[in-house]
Amino acid sequence: MDEFALIDRFFARRAQSRPDVELGIGDDAAVTLVPTGSALVIACDAMCLGTHFPPATPARALGHRCLAINLSDIAAMGARPVWCTLTLSLEEADESWLTEFADGFFALADAHDTALIGGDTVRGPLGMTVTIHGLVEPGCSVRRDGAGPHEAIFVTGCPGEAGAGCSLAIAAKPCDSRSERRLLSRFHYPAPRVHEGLSLQGIATSMIDLSDGLHEDLGKLLTASGVGAELSAEALPVSDDLLEFAGAERALGLALTGGDDYELCFTVPRERERDLVRVSRDWSCPVTRIGETRARAGLVWTRDHQPFTVPDTTFSHF
Ligand code: ADP
Ligand code: MG
Repeated sequence: MDEFALIDRFFARRAQSRPDVELGIGDDAAVTLVPTGSALVIACDAMCLGTHFPPATPARALGHRCLAINLSDIAAMGARPVWCTLTLSLEEADESWLTEFADGFFALADAHDTALIGGDTVRGPLGMTVTIHGLVEPGCSVRRDGAGPHEAIFVTGCPGEAGAGCSLAIAAKPCDSRSERRLLSRFHYPAPRVHEGLSLQGIATSMIDLSDGLHEDLGKLLTASGVGAELSAEALPVSDDLLEFAGAERALGLALTGGDDYELCFTVPRERERDLVRVSRDWSCPVTRIGETRARAGLVWTRDHQPFTVPDTTFSHF
């Protein structure tokens, strides 16, 4: 199968279209209609074999995941995803692999009404890069640098689950229990919090998505905002699956430092906390208050009101 047949069969024919795509896959470039009065939000994230996923990762999971991590970046800006491109590097054109990959990719793209409008296909080590475009009203994106002191800090979902799942993926042995299967699935099929991110416009003063671990990513948000924070380890939402898999101590370490969760972490000033309660009623994930920002720099964790040092498990995938 040559490059053009591959693009046509697996990507062009299946790419859903949107009314704002004037020209999609098949020409030298795509043409889209940017609504007047909208700001364009652009993100790009790559995944490489060996660095971001181990060899046995199912193709369907890779198709889902390469788009999910990009949708998550758009979500973390409080924007609405609209279009994306996909650059695929393949060692060989395996038809059943490509079918599964495209199934995973388009199931998620359709769920978020995001059109694939182009890309590139090259021969090389297995890897995939998505560039995603989102729209937001000018001035309404939620940035990392907007947190002030004495604001509440929230996190969606249960951080640490994907980190546990990543270790299961690396171990590459069959999962023994339902909880292990669910954790593995959290690594393979992250759920980008697009709806949640959008509804935080005008409520969250700052936001980041969690790819490198809660402690690390929240640290980036605080540094960008020029504030510090005090957080309580007991407030962290640790799921039963994670507890069963890792035990209380290691579960806490994973919740703080495990990567790949693609949950949202954000700050809300006191006067808007009621708005958060209102908008989060229809969210598909829990949202938990884990601490508060303060004027003095530094990220301080406490446990039973004592200072708590984050375990030094600087998370490296492989
Ligand atoms: P060019 O040589 O002009 O860059 P290509 O021959 O590489 O164009 O690609 C032909 C068309 O297929 C273009 O519209 C390109 O965006 C699209 N395309 C290539 N690879 C992919 C892919 N993996 N997914 C989606 N579209 C792709
Ligand atoms: Mg090309």
